[in-house]
Amino acid sequence: MSTATEHRTFDSLNPATGTVVGSHPIHDAAAVRAAVRDAGEAARWWARLGHAERRRRLLDFKAVLTRELHRVANLIHEETGKPVGDATLETVLAIVHLDWAARNARKVLGPRRVSPGLISVNMAATLEYLPLGVVGVIGPWNYPLFTPMGSIGYALAAGNAVVFKPSELTPGVGVLLAELFAESVPEHRVLQVVTGLGETGAALAADPGVGKIAFTGSTATAKRVMAACAANLTPIVAECGGKDALIVDAGADVAAAADAALWGAMSNAGQTCVGVERVYVVDAVYEAFMRELTTRAEGLRGGEHYGPITMPSQTEIIRRHVDDALARGGTAVVGGAGSVRPPYVDPVVLTGVPEDSSAVREETFGPTITVTRVATAEEALQKANAAAYGLGGTVFSGDPRRAMELARAMLTGMTAINSVISFAGVPALPFGGVGDSGFGRIHGADGLREFTRAKAITRQRFPLPGMKITSFSRTPAELQRLVKMVTILHGRRKS
Ligand code: NDP
Repeated sequence: MSTATEHRTFDSLNPATGTVVGSHPIHDAAAVRAAVRDAGEAARWWARLGHAERRRRLLDFKAVLTRELHRVANLIHEETGKPVGDATLETVLAIVHLDWAARNARKVLGPRRVSPGLISVNMAATLEYLPLGVVGVIGPWNYPLFTPMGSIGYALAAGNAVVFKPSELTPGVGVLLAELFAESVPEHRVLQVVTGLGETGAALAADPGVGKIAFTGSTATAKRVMAACAANLTPIVAECGGKDALIVDAGADVAAAADAALWGAMSNAGQTCVGVERVYVVDAVYEAFMRELTTRAEGLRGGEHYGPITMPSQTEIIRRHVDDALARGGTAVVGGAGSVRPPYVDPVVLTGVPEDSSAVREETFGPTITVTRVATAEEALQKANAAAYGLGGTVFSGDPRRAMELARAMLTGMTAINSVISFAGVPALPFGGVGDSGFGRIHGADGLREFTRAKAITRQRFPLPGMKITSFSRTPAELQRLVKMVTILHGRRKS
């Protein structure tokens, strides 16, 4: 790192108190380039270690992280403002994912024989998934450990080195993560952290030494990152925002649905990419649901049950959405414009809000929720699917078959039934969205493969007599034999 950059620093602040939590260097493009260069070397060493040794190291890292759980959770609490309990839950989830990635990498990615098919019967066909080299991870501040771990843990388990650029609001969590990793992998800098502002992330995305960018953040920034990646044809996985809907069907347990809607909308002060922002309730259970929801919501308070708005500028967006909803004929049945009292926002429950208002269409990222009465679950589905985003969603229904149908028909990457955000706690399930919510997947087998290149190898075991197809010495009779075989195998039409 150059001497010039060593002296430029920025502070991370506790959003609840404004006090400085830590001071970190602003890594410029030269520092990022140096980190990526080191990572390239580390990646070659890490890849050579092989699955078994990487698994051992990553499980050791998991143990270190688990033993330091309280320290990590406390730092998350300080940098984001979220309650220590929620930060603890976040850390636990990150540990569970790291464990799954470490244990399953070999099974998912390791070499396997595949059937060569009849016309290649003399070939041995092998498929394996090899690391890309250096993966650049750009993370958000709302879940500064859990969210990047969905890329970092899986990319490392797949055999890559990682250069992680945490959000400027939560750099300390990233730095601590790399420190703890180095306890288990001291030989090379397999996981490095570069800190700084948006430009540091931009330098990482533009670095030709990066094999893939895993970006989590807003849709607008994802577009800028993708444009930077285009210069080097660097692939990207984009985990962006959402406007998730919860559908309450007739026959649903309305008390459980209200409880889930409230937690999904208000926990982490609504700053959850898969948080509930819209609720569609069928007529038959609407009144009962609203009674359950409002009673529960009235007992909640920002600063007591959940933390502050981490990014100060977000309070203006929340205020704008609430004001717009009320100006367009909506009703605040809990809270209202006065609920926004920076750095806290108390729960706001809005009803009768037009579907084309900003509170229904744009990501609010605050402890607010719109509830809309609909005639049928089909209408709920149609409205839920009208969003430009498609990340997660929730269905509450008393009929498991009906619930599955609705879940499948939701235009999102994930849906939880009779529970909320539960898919995030199942490491075997892929996580990611469609539309403005991005593309590509973290978590699960798909998340491991996301950080690899498929490698296909065919080995001829013996020459096929009379079938020299890929040779200039091929005879018309050989071609005829091939056509005959294909006709027998594939030419029969099924009536
Ligand atoms: P941002 O898009 O503002 O930032 C995301 C990351 O990108 C930060 O590290 C940021 O750095 C960095 N960055 C900013 N500008 C650039 C650039 N030009 N080039 C490269 N990197 C850049 O998102 P937030 O941090 O505000 O996170 C909130 C968003 O993330 C919400 O939309 C939320 O829905 C989404 N999210 C999605 C998740 C998912 O899995 N789908 C999970 C969690 C959040 P800096 O902070 O220093 O500016």
